[in-house]
Formats: sequence, structure tokens, C-alpha cells
Amino acid sequence: MTEKVKYLIVGQGLSGTWLSYYFSKQHISYKIINDSSLKSATSVASGVINPVTGRRIVQTWKIDSILPFAIDAYVALQEKINQLVFSSAPILLIHPSQQMKESFDYRIAHDNVYLQKTDAKNWQDFFKVHEGMGMIKDCYWIDLNTMVHGWRKYLQEQEHYIEGRFLMADFSFTENSVSWKNINAEKIIFCDGAYAMQLPFFNNLPFAPNKGEALIVRIPGLSQKHIYKSNMTLVPWKEDLFWVGSIYEWNYENEAPTEAFKNKMETQLKQLLQIPFEIIDHIVGIRPANLERRPFVGIHPIHNSIAICNGMGTKGCSLAPYFAQQLVQFLETGTPIDSEADIHRFAKDI
Ligand SMILES: Cc1cc2nc3c(=O)[nH]c(=O)nc-3n(C[C@H](O)[C@H](O)[C@H](O)COP(=O)(O)OP(=O)(O)OC[C@H]3O[C@@H](n4cnc5c(N)ncnc54)[C@H](O)[C@@H]3O)c2cc1C
Repeated sequence: MTEKVKYLIVGQGLSGTWLSYYFSKQHISYKIINDSSLKSATSVASGVINPVTGRRIVQTWKIDSILPFAIDAYVALQEKINQLVFSSAPILLIHPSQQMKESFDYRIAHDNVYLQKTDAKNWQDFFKVHEGMGMIKDCYWIDLNTMVHGWRKYLQEQEHYIEGRFLMADFSFTENSVSWKNINAEKIIFCDGAYAMQLPFFNNLPFAPNKGEALIVRIPGLSQKHIYKSNMTLVPWKEDLFWVGSIYEWNYENEAPTEAFKNKMETQLKQLLQIPFEIIDHIVGIRPANLERRPFVGIHPIHNSIAICNGMGTKGCSLAPYFAQQLVQFLETGTPIDSEADIHRFAKDI
């Protein structure tokens, strides 16, 4: 028997989670196809929203609009799934070099919004502090695995979720409709992260995927109320576990964890921590990044029934709610997508 819905979504990482959330909120019919046996960036991400970036500690793109939107969105989603997934977690900076300290001191004196001074004395039992410390306010930590699984439970209860792999062999489309197996829809939206490069519709977008690795490390006694950043980042994970990473590797041969990364992090942890630690796990993911560092959102320039919500790069936690909602508004009311995110900027290339 054929089933009809308005939209099909492929993928339930951060992008698919938020897109389906806004469809549900507006009572729009949809099904989401997700293969949970595939590796997703979301499942290994540290889940940090940090309003500043780079060595110069400048504000991230559109953070004034995106941060308040993200806060409201995560608070609402966690209420819906009745699980705590969103916490305020200021980033404590343990300056790794004189240059980084100078950069912090410069920014705190010029156009500062998010930086705050902090007293290193309170942290010297935990960290070997050589160049002083600072703090970034208004940072947040999202327990992404609890969030994605909590939302999946809701999707399953509402019969929106299909566990399985989207394959081209099961798919056909016209300008006004798509069908996958026994489901017909008006449109399909690909939220398939780095896997988009393996399917024909959006593989010409300028993806520049990069590999990230992290260690899961037990550090008994270290407060989970903060994120810690030196020349690596320590993010609360679960109980006394911390996510420790990461790297941005554009030229990678495979998706396997590397000894080189593990050894480097272990050495850096020994240099940073005053207290003992134990490595528990080593995880890897591919960030669906691109050269422009802007999302890929919108309808295919040739095929009206095919759309995308992807390209969240290193900032999926803050960008995904904002741009998933923009895509839903665009599809339902025609409200334009931010021109810097709309894939029509690549109309000639796709
Ligand atoms: C190590 C690391 C650390 C990171 N840390 C942060 C951070 O602290 N803060 C931040 O904002 N961002 C971070 N990121 C980036 C963030 O993870 C991504 O921006 C975000 O998760 C991308 O989400 P997505 O839904 O677009 O893709 P994904 O999470 O990769 O999801 C894609 C989904 O599609 C499914 N799928 C793909 N193809 C198919 C198919 N054919 N059929 C069915 N299902 C399919 C997959 O199973 C998966 O569930 C990090 C990334 C990595 C790798």
C-alpha cells in the first residue's frame, strides 16, 4: 500500500533532527529515513556552542541572531523529550602560549562581548597554568547523543521514523513528487551530512569534509560545569568522562582512529593536567564542512522536488536549528533563505 506524506527527510543527525522538529511543531506530515549503522558527525561531536572563534577570538558568523535562537530552540526541544540535554558551560581558557594570552588581553580591551577575566589560583590544583587564564561567557554544551536518541524515540512513537538506508535504486522523482519504496511525498530533503557527496543531487557542491578525532577520558574530580580549552579542548561527556580533542584533518586516507592523534593528546594532557586521567575510548567523525564555511540550504536549482539542509561544518550545534527553521519557512511560506546559506549561490555548479 502506498503511503503519502508531504516531506521525506534523509538522515537524523543534527540537521535532520532540527528539520523534523520544525515540521512536527507545525503539524506537517513527514517521514525520516535514517541508517543508524552509518557513522554520523553528530554522534562524535563535542556539542559545544562557542560564540567566538580563531586565534583573534572574534565573534562567529551571525552569532547575535543565531545564539538567542539556538538557546530557545534547545530549551524547547529538551522540554519536548523531557530530558536534560542543554547546559550553560563557560569555557575556561588555559592560555597555551604567550601569544594566545596577548590575543585574549587584546580582545578583552577591544570590542569585547564574551570574554571575562578569571583567577588562575582557583584552578592550579587541576591544571599546570603557565600563561594565565581567561573565560568565555555564554557558551553552551549539548548532550548530542541523548538529544538525538530522545528525539528518535519521539519520532518512532509518532511513526515518523524509518530505520534504513536511502538508496537510489529505491527512489524516483518528478518535478512535483518523489517516491521512495512505498512512500510518496512532494519533496525529499537530504540531511545526510558528508554522505551527500556519494549521491548524485548535491555532489557538485563545494564540500570540503574534514576528519575529527577525539578521546573519551576519565578525569575524576574535574568539575563538569565548565569546558576547558588550552591547545586542546576538554568537554564534559558523561559522569566523570570528558571528550578531549580535536583536529581538523582535510587530507585523510580513511576514517580510522590514528595512533598519532592518541599519542599527541596523551602527551598534551600530561602537560596540562595536575590530576590523573585514564583514556577510555577513541572516536572519529567526518565534519560536513565546505570551503566557504556557510551552510547548504534550499531547493535544487533544477529539480524542484529535491532539497538539502547540510554543510553545517564545525558549527552544527548553533547553525542547524536556525537554518532548519529557515528551510521550513521557505518551503511552507516562501520566506527567503539567508542568501549566504541558500544553495542558489551555486546554481551554475550543481
Ligand atoms: C570530532 C568532531 C567534533 C565536533 N564538535 C562540534 C562542536 O563542538 N560544536 C559544533 O557545533 N559542531 C561540532 N562538530 C560538527 C558537527 O558534528 C556537525 O556540524 C553536525 O553534526 C552535522 O550534522 P548533520 O546532521 O548535517 O550530519 P551527520 O551528523 O553526519 O548526520 C547525517 C545523518 O544522515 C544519515 N545518513 C547518511 N546517508 C544516509 C543514507 N543514504 N540513508 C539513510 N541515512 C543516511 C547518517 O546515518 C547520519 O545519521 C564536530 C564534528 C566532529 C567530527
